[in-house]
Amino acid sequence: MALKERLKSQIRNGGPLSVAQYMTLCLHDPADGYYAVRPGLGATGDFITAPLVSQMFGELIGLWFAAGWENLGAPDPLRLVELGPGSGVLMSDLLRACRTRPGFLEAADLWLIEASEPLRRRQMATLEGAPLRPRWAERLEDAPAGAPLFLVANEFLDCLPANQFVRTREGWRERRIGLDDSGELVFGLGAPTALRDAPEAEPGAILEISPAQAAFGSAIGERIARDGGLALLIDYGRLEPGTGDTLQALRGHRKEPVLNSPGQADLTVHVDFPSVLEAAVDAGAAAVATTQGAFLLGLGIEARAAALARRHPEKAAVLSRQLERLVHPDQMGELFKVACIYQPGAPPPGFGVP
Ligand code: SAH
Repeated sequence: MALKERLKSQIRNGGPLSVAQYMTLCLHDPADGYYAVRPGLGATGDFITAPLVSQMFGELIGLWFAAGWENLGAPDPLRLVELGPGSGVLMSDLLRACRTRPGFLEAADLWLIEASEPLRRRQMATLEGAPLRPRWAERLEDAPAGAPLFLVANEFLDCLPANQFVRTREGWRERRIGLDDSGELVFGLGAPTALRDAPEAEPGAILEISPAQAAFGSAIGERIARDGGLALLIDYGRLEPGTGDTLQALRGHRKEPVLNSPGQADLTVHVDFPSVLEAAVDAGAAAVATTQGAFLLGLGIEARAAALARRHPEKAAVLSRQLERLVHPDQMGELFKVACIYQPGAPPPGFGVP
């Protein structure tokens, strides 16, 4: 039975689903989930991400990690970890750029945390011949603690499940997915619930809360507070607390109604950076965040684009379009944020932290 039909029967028998439950089933159902069966990353798929826009993205991040590692006294060994590596292209570009810093690569063991079997196979193919041999794991905890953690996650936190709450005259009510009179999936509301720390909001406002995002903030913060290291989290999301419905389904590079085709589209919410970073700080780490545009410009992406264009004049126009796409405020430059979790007293390069 198709996932949509199974969801309907689950709701008929067990009652409405939370948005987080719906996201988890649509993305990871073993038989029909989007990532389990048909993850479509890239121009011919459903969505495109920064590493697929340009090699400069992963290269600059690689050099940033190597510089951060040198600042920390070049610890050996170190744990290099990527959460949700997708196509593997970010890690491939990062490792290539780090060939100029052999000490960093020699000290590293590489862990890829990936839930999707088809994407693991794609990562294996992309990273064949890379300077480090990856190991795969399903959970961050599987990459052993006890060495400084150098972690990168691009567009990973946005596909973790979130719940939504709607402000009504009776207070906040959870947004849930049930069935309408003709048996189709439809959004509805649960009973009023008391929410701690909810902001003031007008009736109709939607608040998103993702315990799963915050749990990663906490786990990464705890590791880095204890073992040292740097974690770079890049995603679309907000830097200030706020409301707004950001749940989105993308299929073939188009947005489509979220309940249309469970399992056939990528489903995301914006990352709630304030909650993720607060969880990291509560776990003993420090944190800082900026926009993707400011971060990449600060790392010298314009000089890198110019150098590549000198070496490949035939690609100058393409490189300039890639640069715009990554940093321009109307493109990815401001919507996307870059957050870093670090050990108090050992700040990262590139964020202007003294
Ligand atoms: N970082 C890549 C891919 C982003 S797509 C890029 O920038 O191109 C999201 C990635 O996270 C995919 O690899 C997906 O399979 C993985 N993923 C999603 N949920 C996950 C989970 N709960 N645990 C591990 N990996 C997950």
